[in-house]
Amino acid sequence: MLEMNWKKELITEQQKLKTDCKCPNCGGDAFGKTFDCQFCGKENQELKEDIKNISGILENCSEEELKSPFVMISLKKMEEYSPLVSSMDREEIEKEYLTWSKKMIDDLLAAKELSKEDQEGLINLFDNGDYYQEQIAATLQNMVIANTATQRGHYSPEVVYGALYQYYCQIIKPHVKDAKMEKKKLKEDCAGESEGYTARLDEESFNNFMNGGGSSVINIIGHEARHVYQHYKRFHRIVEDRNDLIMFYESIVENKKPEMYDENYINMLSEIDARVFGSMFEQQFLKTMLGFSDEKRKRDFKADCDLLVEADTMRVIDEKQVHLEDAVLTILKEEPSLYDKWAQFRYEFTREGQEIRRKTTSELIDDYLNNKNDKKDNLYLAIVTNSKKLETLEKKRQQKNPSATM
Ligand SMILES: [Zn+2]
Ligand SMILES: [Zn+2]
Repeated sequence: MLEMNWKKELITEQQKLKTDCKCPNCGGDAFGKTFDCQFCGKENQELKEDIKNISGILENCSEEELKSPFVMISLKKMEEYSPLVSSMDREEIEKEYLTWSKKMIDDLLAAKELSKEDQEGLINLFDNGDYYQEQIAATLQNMVIANTATQRGHYSPEVVYGALYQYYCQIIKPHVKDAKMEKKKLKEDCAGESEGYTARLDEESFNNFMNGGGSSVINIIGHEARHVYQHYKRFHRIVEDRNDLIMFYESIVENKKPEMYDENYINMLSEIDARVFGSMFEQQFLKTMLGFSDEKRKRDFKADCDLLVEADTMRVIDEKQVHLEDAVLTILKEEPSLYDKWAQFRYEFTREGQEIRRKTTSELIDDYLNNKNDKKDNLYLAIVTNSKKLETLEKKRQQKNPSATM
């Protein structure tokens, strides 16, 4: 849709401005007219360059283009990042934005066809790389998704994908600020996937949503966003509950034995957890946006919730039924360095001399009793931190007195 290059350029500049409006030297966010940081005095070269480019683009716009929703939203966003882009009065822009968004809400409510200018305004408002937290933008986004889901309204793919991208950001960005989403042709029967902090939505699933509506795209996005969050927690050694620990074990075993994932797909906890969240978002969307609730979805959801609570740790590995903890211990014995790499192991495993073993029940109870009054809001964190402290103390003691044993 954005066939004119300058519009794409302006979006790129907006995104750059958002990062460059902080001083690279000290993080300060106020600059004088000569782009010198008000806190450390250093000139912000990047910001200077951005403003020059932006002015250049806007100077080449016709009167009419300058009045378009696309440019108005650009100005609104950029003014928020840096007051140095002051070609227009801030209040004036705000007023124009409110007038425009009211008209958009009316048009979307009536499922009217949107003009090319208005759709371009929405594209800028939803702009993929940018997470624009604002009430009206969120409302417009939900209305575009709901109208597409019911096929009452039809909008350009960029508008619809932009709305879905914002929806994804709302779920994941409060937890994972580097999260991204891509639209891509995935292998057959794969509606979505995730890798690290990136969720992928299958091109065909998106096209099916565009042309046939339905709510499964919400489920896919919610599901993949949850996988991104799982990855984030694992990578940052965060364990909020026992399920996080089990999902961490799954990833350790899967890393050594990739076939485990397919053999146990149905009862992989990371999948159950993602299914529960995908379905929760879909039901929420159906209920709040369309006033609709569905018994079959509710039943499936409840069945998955039960599995999540049960958190069964039996898995099929090499065609045998194995406890995940035992599979993990085998791996730890083969590769003891993993114990130091991943703090999550310290909850249920311990090192005695060179040997890594499971903690005994009485050790687990001691951990609980010794740490339950710790100021940390999470018992797990307390156990890990204290276990590391003890290990360091022990090392120091041994260095001073090498003959001492534990
Ligand atoms: Zn500074
Ligand atoms: Zn999944």
